[in-house]
Amino acid sequence: KKRNPGESEFQQAVKEILDSLVPVFEQDPKYIDHSILERMIEPERIIQFRVPWTDDNGKVHVNRGFRVQFNSAIGPYKGGLRFHPSVNASIIKFLGFEQIFKNSLTGQPIGGGKGGADFDPKGKSDNEIMRFCQSFMSELSKHIGPDTDVPAGDIGVGAREIGFLFGQYKKMRGGYEAGVLTGKQVGFGGSLARTEATGFGTVYFAQEMLKGQNDSFDGKTVVVSGSGNVSIYAMQKATELGAKVVACSDSNGYVYDKDGINLETVKRLKEVERKRIKEYVNEHPNAEYHEGFENIWSVKCDVALPCATQNELDETSAQKLVDNGVKAVAEGANMPSTLEAVDIFQKNNVLFGPGKAVNAGGVAVSALEMAQNSARIAWKFEEVDEKLHEIMKNIYKNSMDAAEKYGEAGNLVVGANIAGFLKVADAMIAQGVI
Ligand code: NDP
Repeated sequence: KKRNPGESEFQQAVKEILDSLVPVFEQDPKYIDHSILERMIEPERIIQFRVPWTDDNGKVHVNRGFRVQFNSAIGPYKGGLRFHPSVNASIIKFLGFEQIFKNSLTGQPIGGGKGGADFDPKGKSDNEIMRFCQSFMSELSKHIGPDTDVPAGDIGVGAREIGFLFGQYKKMRGGYEAGVLTGKQVGFGGSLARTEATGFGTVYFAQEMLKGQNDSFDGKTVVVSGSGNVSIYAMQKATELGAKVVACSDSNGYVYDKDGINLETVKRLKEVERKRIKEYVNEHPNAEYHEGFENIWSVKCDVALPCATQNELDETSAQKLVDNGVKAVAEGANMPSTLEAVDIFQKNNVLFGPGKAVNAGGVAVSALEMAQNSARIAWKFEEVDEKLHEIMKNIYKNSMDAAEKYGEAGNLVVGANIAGFLKVADAMIAQGVI
């Protein structure tokens, strides 16, 4: 805390990891002897830069850009870019730190990184977005590359932004390097199923959690927070598996549709028209809109999938879910539940899947995009989806096995942290004190 003052999100992410690694340090003191943890919590490099851009009226604005290159022990830095007004060093560091363990869990050769800017894409024209992306990439391009650091999307950065960023990278470097960004459109090097990967992967993971109790999504009532990239495809896969998704949200409020959320409407509103979720009720008058995104957790459900943002689900919300009989909570977003909320789920025997395991499908398919780019080939949708499904099953199994081995059977928080940690820690020891 002394070395990272005011960085509450980063401190929260580090505390969760520290608590779960205690049994590892007790069984194997070599990790202490090599000061692995002290080294791991210190980013290899942080780049912060000025991003000036001009709006459509000619006014100049300045935002702050970041890239945290956290850990390259097992592969090039890999992690998304977030454009949201709340972005600061603490948020980018927490995301980059979590990314190290998540990427290790995927079994793919990728290190941990994250970046973004405190830029608010809401209400900006396409041209303003393009000029911002160009200014951002003019600086970032000096620090990334297909074999060193490969950014992707996150909150506020989707296919449109990745396209503009890719174009500017190409211009700065004087040529096409497909592998420098993932989440590209399919027409210029993107992978099929990358758009769906995080949401689908979230549901594949939750499916494994339910299977462990001889249960399934069939007939379940599901609540999914958010209505962005992760949420939309989590809703789609849960529905395909026989569940009824009754609520979703954005940062202003949530919609409840007892007949089941109409996904075509949500996709059009959010992906094409870029409108607010409250517009949903104009087309579905039987549905209800409620102000306040956190109130979504008072909707009764069997499975809750928080897919919006960090700390969106606190202890009050967790208690409401428990009182309403929730069976499973799987985090599609990064760190959406506070530490207190996680405690409530675990004490009440709710199946709980932590973000770094549950939402690892996105970055896993990003690694598959890198592999396709390097080999200059393109796999079919079904082929990528099948690989994603296999990866999610493995992450679940490896996390459960690690939890059991270290005396915390069934605790996926501990299991995922330990399984992710060991591979990176062993690589760091093998590479010496660097
Ligand atoms: P999007 O920008 O597509 O969607 C984000 C959604 O969350 C929107 O509905 C947004 O509402 C809502 N939201 C954002 N900030 C807040 C806030 N402060 N309070 C309440 N709601 C908020 O992002 P993604 O779907 O890509 O990302 C969602 C989460 O999943 C993030 O935690 C991200 O880090 C994580 N993730 C994403 C991956 C990916 O592949 N995209 C991979 C792994 C994790 P509004 O429109 O009102 O802002």
